[in-house]
Amino acid sequence: MIYFRCWYCNRAIVKPDELAGKRFACSCGRRAKVPRRSGGSSKVRSLSDWLVESLVYGGAGALVGFMLSVMIFTRIPLVRRPIEVTIAMTAFGLVVGTLFGERGINWLGQKLRDRENR
Ligand SMILES: [Zn+2]
Repeated sequence: MIYFRCWYCNRAIVKPDELAGKRFACSCGRRAKVPRRSGGSSKVRSLSDWLVESLVYGGAGALVGFMLSVMIFTRIPLVRRPIEVTIAMTAFGLVVGTLFGERGINWLGQKLRDRENR
């Protein structure tokens, strides 16, 4: 069984494991989904939520990717820095941010810090 609360009215809800990921209507009338495990979020993400999120995280990812490429090239003279690599890393950051959201950004940020500390 999965124990969780409605994201809107905070009512305690119990659903069988088979319903994980399924949507249902809470007694408060809001649409909610059964989280994968107990205590998970029951908030239903709409398409616009998803769009905004991927825009935010994709943009942040692109920025981190760009900074990462700049850091990698700090010791290389400006004229010899391959612009393709900067573009590729920016695009890579964009993809990571869009696909993995906050987790992806944290992972990229960790890579950035690793480099700074060296
Ligand atoms: Zn509710």
